[in-house]
Amino acid sequence: MSLQQKLTEERRGRLAAERMLELKKAELFAANRKLGRHARQLSDEIVDTRALVESMGAENRKVKSDLNAAHEKIAVVERRLWHSIETIKDGFAFFDGDNRLIMANQAYLAVFDDLEVIKPGVNFVTILQALTDEGIIDLQGVEPTEWRQRMLTRFQARHPEPEVIQLWNGTYIKMIDQRGPGGDVVSLGLDITASVMYERELDAARRQAEAANRAKSAFLANMSHEIRTPMNGVVGMAELLDDTMLDEDQRLFVQTIKNSGEALLVIINDVLDYSKIEADRLELHSASFDLERACQEVIMLLQPMAREKGLEILLDYDLFLPTDLIGDAGRLRQVLTNLIGNAIKFTTKGHVLIRVTGVPSAEKGTVAVHMAVEDTGIGIPDHMTNHIFGEFNQVENERNRQFDGTGLGLAITKRLVELMKGDIWVTSEEGAGSCFGFRIEMTATGPIDVSYPSMAADIRRVMIIEDLPANRNILRRQLEQLQLQTVGVSSSAEALKTMDATIDLVVTDHKPPQVDALALAENLKEQGFEVPVLLLSSNLTGMKDDPRARGFAEMLQKPLPRQKLFRALQNVAPPPTLKALGAQSSSQFEEKAILRKMRVLAAEDNRTNQLVLSKMLKPLNIDLQFAANGEEAVAFYESFKPDLVFMDISMPRMDGKQATRKIREIEARNGGHTPIVAMTAHALMDDDKTILQAGLDHYLTKPLRRAVLEEHIVLAQPKDTLPVRDSTVQAAG
Ligand code: ADP
Repeated sequence: MSLQQKLTEERRGRLAAERMLELKKAELFAANRKLGRHARQLSDEIVDTRALVESMGAENRKVKSDLNAAHEKIAVVERRLWHSIETIKDGFAFFDGDNRLIMANQAYLAVFDDLEVIKPGVNFVTILQALTDEGIIDLQGVEPTEWRQRMLTRFQARHPEPEVIQLWNGTYIKMIDQRGPGGDVVSLGLDITASVMYERELDAARRQAEAANRAKSAFLANMSHEIRTPMNGVVGMAELLDDTMLDEDQRLFVQTIKNSGEALLVIINDVLDYSKIEADRLELHSASFDLERACQEVIMLLQPMAREKGLEILLDYDLFLPTDLIGDAGRLRQVLTNLIGNAIKFTTKGHVLIRVTGVPSAEKGTVAVHMAVEDTGIGIPDHMTNHIFGEFNQVENERNRQFDGTGLGLAITKRLVELMKGDIWVTSEEGAGSCFGFRIEMTATGPIDVSYPSMAADIRRVMIIEDLPANRNILRRQLEQLQLQTVGVSSSAEALKTMDATIDLVVTDHKPPQVDALALAENLKEQGFEVPVLLLSSNLTGMKDDPRARGFAEMLQKPLPRQKLFRALQNVAPPPTLKALGAQSSSQFEEKAILRKMRVLAAEDNRTNQLVLSKMLKPLNIDLQFAANGEEAVAFYESFKPDLVFMDISMPRMDGKQATRKIREIEARNGGHTPIVAMTAHALMDDDKTILQAGLDHYLTKPLRRAVLEEHIVLAQPKDTLPVRDSTVQAAG
């Protein structure tokens, strides 16, 4: 190769190398630039990251300090909590789900008296074991294994029942354990020794108080008996003395003695009843009784008081309501006596109306009886209507203060009604009157179905002469329910004006205004109306003249039991124009000729009481014989054949209950049933029960009232006897 060639080649080689170098340079430059960019980016990132790290560090420090503060707080709370738990005198412990003790306070551990095994981690089974083995628990005779098993089962229950255990030293601990959702158990051991002791003391005190109450009751019962017996003499004799010739002063003295005696008896009875209710010793004794008659009896008893004030007592007994019911007649009478007595006491003008209605339930055989006592008296202010049912509570205003009383009556009444599972209420308007109502459910003795007797066929239209609208309405409703037409008038004069030939019967009150009822029959006859007249009176015994002689078909005592009204309506003769007058009077004469006097036997050992009884019954047209003891009573029963027996209960030789049993034995052999009415000074319920069990029909407590005795005699009067209250016969005898 030539040099030229060589040079050219060399140049070419150099140029290529230079180009290569240029290329590499450019690459290097580009790489350098890239590197620079990266380096800048990196340093930016480093700057960012450093800033981030710096800020995170601050946060971290904050979290750390917060955490520390929280830890400190928790420690404080835990310390305080534990301090509190330690301060509690009762035991406190936690168990985990495997029944291992997590922790317990000192009170809990103290029970174990520093036993080493009892520490956190110990199982509940070991705790039970320690309790029995170390004699910490008083097992009260239960086997240790049995006790431990029972306690463990209880502890493992989902909701363990509280359990009281007793420790060796007499301490009572109530265990209360609560299982949480994770199976942990919080266990409390409350020291209830003080409350157990307190309960025991209370129990002992209660027993003592009950014994004292029983003693008080017995004392009151005896006292009431002791007071009643002489009071019978005082009240009875004063009543009789009142009927004799006295000057004005003497009458006032006698009446004061009588009224004070009666007031005293009311108070004794109230106090006795109240103390029995208070001691929960008042029991009801149910037996079958006649509700309508019970109402009548109460009204009879209170009638003199009403009459004295010029008030009428009216009874509106629903004709469709059964009267034979099962209940405590004595207590029901007491409720009625209280309510009607109050109504009369707080009324000066108008009337007292007793309304008895009811809803019978044929399937249940019961009657929901609703009784209301309505008066036209002073009324009760609205805000007082609840107050008056409380003990010793009375309305204290000027109007009220003129009436005396203990304020116990309504409290007793309310409790009695509640004992009968009933309720009582009052509605009242001041100055207008009050209405006390109560409702009780009673069982009917027989099937619930009231059937009415058919009336005398000739009687269709009845005239009612009665000035009191309330009374007129009652009679009107009763007669209309018996399918009779009625015409109501308020006076005899109006009757004479209204009278026409369509009237078949006249029912008149004893004292209608304007024309005296006694003259009415004659006046009617004068006008040509030969119509039978039924006379109703609330005071037949006081009648001087014999109304029968004046042409009355019948005289009826008010309040009028509906059976008596039915009977009178059935027996009333049709207008004499339909019958020959002569034939009627001769048959009446024949009827009279075969009648005899009613025989009444009274067994009574006390001389004073015999005297009281004989004087009280003297005005009656009856044959009265006395027996001085039970033996005599039985003997006289056989020889005298009484229609009614009044039987004293406590008598020497043979008491009234034994004598009654003997009489009932004789009757079981020979047939018949003579009503026997007990007379007793006892006022306790238990006596009432045993007396009725002995076979006596009724029960009277001393002091005896003439009106009640008379009522019993009239009720027991056989058909073939002379009227016991016939005034003409009285005059003759
Ligand atoms: P007492 O009649 O012995 O005061 P009660 O407990 O029977 O006691 O009655 C409490 C009070 O209720 C009476 O004092 C009277 O203020 C009031 N009260 C009761 N019944 C009536 C009534 N029918 N009319 C007006 N006030 C009455």
